[in-house]
Amino acid sequence: MRVLVAGGAGYIGSVVTAALLADGHEVTVLDDLSTGHADAVPSGATFVQASLHDSAPVLADVRPEAVLHFAAKSLVGESQVKPEIYWDTNVAGSLALLEAMRAAGCRRIVFSSTAATYGEPAQVPIREDAPTRPTNTYGASKLAVDAMLTSYATAYDFAAVSLRYFNVAGAAHGLGERHTTETHLIPIALQVAAGTREAITVYGEDYPTPDGTCIRDYIHVSDLADAHLLALTAPAPGEHRVYNLGNGTGFSVQEVVDAVREVTGHSVPVVVGQRRAGDPAQLVASSERIRSDLGWEPRHTDLAGIVRDAWETAQKRA
Ligand code: UDP
Repeated sequence: MRVLVAGGAGYIGSVVTAALLADGHEVTVLDDLSTGHADAVPSGATFVQASLHDSAPVLADVRPEAVLHFAAKSLVGESQVKPEIYWDTNVAGSLALLEAMRAAGCRRIVFSSTAATYGEPAQVPIREDAPTRPTNTYGASKLAVDAMLTSYATAYDFAAVSLRYFNVAGAAHGLGERHTTETHLIPIALQVAAGTREAITVYGEDYPTPDGTCIRDYIHVSDLADAHLLALTAPAPGEHRVYNLGNGTGFSVQEVVDAVREVTGHSVPVVVGQRRAGDPAQLVASSERIRSDLGWEPRHTDLAGIVRDAWETAQKRA
């Protein structure tokens, strides 16, 4: 298929681009490089540097049969203090992309949504029919795009899938996480193991969990890529599907730090800090829907394996 990957110079977008190329698709990456890296775009893809707001001429030229949309701002803390960036890039940018698709006659899309659309869950594991009550602007902006996709499916026969990612981690095709502002647990713990950061602050040890630290559902980026390939052809015109994507098992912050120590063989000094605002005690996905609808099955569910892939890729880059 001829596909356009918006945000294909970022962590997840670049890994999915590599998986699409390996599967024989023809890929154009559109990315404004605001947070992505040109050298992360796999060599078999055509790269166009442009923002979502300026995507119309690119789509008119490429005429993709499908779009995979990863391009977004994704820092929860920043979204609380500079919400305009999130409404502009994530919401207005996505609207511009959908309009560019419509003008180019492309009606198939896979969108990167997030567990942050659910907010504080009443029940764990979280299913797709759980209430969506985001607790930050980032989650709200992604939820707004999910709503857009439902209406574009109804009004314009779009075939759309929103994939709600839980905590994406690991590395594949030599591509891993490389954020200028790093806020995520595994890359920060690996930086401490590598000696480029002194200690990791664990945000709270007094949660109602077995060891007192927060539990999250870490999904390997390769498993996530598999889900995108399955989702690409899944919906019929007029359909908007929503699928959660998680590993199915939760791991605590303490377990992640222990796994980083074990995998790297380095010490990881910990400082216990305050809770981070807006952090629910537990976020674990039910991915039953995508398993039963599309036969998706995560293959890399072992925490040490996820950490090892991230570590080895980061070490090679260093
Ligand atoms: N966390 C932590 N210290 C850090 C970064 C994260 O204790 O330096 C915790 C955070 O409070 C959460 C978990 O690790 O419970 C995962 O956080 P991350 O930012 O990686 O992903 P999120 O779940 O917020 O999307």
